[in-house]
Amino acid sequence: SENTLVLLKPDTVLRKLCGEILSRFERKGLTLTALKMLKLTPEMAAEHYREHIGKPFYPDLVEFITSGPIVALVLTGPNAIKTVRTMMGPTNPVDAPPGTIRGDYATVMSNNIVHGSDSLTSAQREIAIYFTDQEMF
Ligand code: ATP
Ligand code: MG
Repeated sequence: SENTLVLLKPDTVLRKLCGEILSRFERKGLTLTALKMLKLTPEMAAEHYREHIGKPFYPDLVEFITSGPIVALVLTGPNAIKTVRTMMGPTNPVDAPPGTIRGDYATVMSNNIVHGSDSLTSAQREIAIYFTDQEMF
């Protein structure tokens, strides 16, 4: 069994889609292991998206992800990392098929609803940004 970090981004909270998105993951059979609502500081955003520092879209990415509250989750299950990425769909919603989260709810790459860790290494690193061991069940 595997843990992955999921963020419901500010657009999801604003559009009142948190329940719908969380519901999809639960129906799939993933286990909710941790959950909190928070607003990222620029420092936390830099830690989360550190692989993208210096890229042309980075300033807009940080501005967006810090623009309002988000919901952070740890989801657990067999192949949770890959399963969540498949359910999310491609980064650009234009390429995301109907039936995926980005395909069903998003139109532009800058507001793409959800984040999911892309590897075991990222998942472990990212989970530690948001949760202490005591906050994980
Ligand atoms: P996330 O990390 O948010 O789950 P992802 O793993 O699908 O998304 P990444 O390549 O990690 O995609 O990019 C992080 C975020 O940066 C994307 O969700 C998107 O909002 C933004 N982004 C990525 N590439 C571009 C780009 N070429 N132009 C504009 N924004 C981009
Ligand atoms: Mg990513």
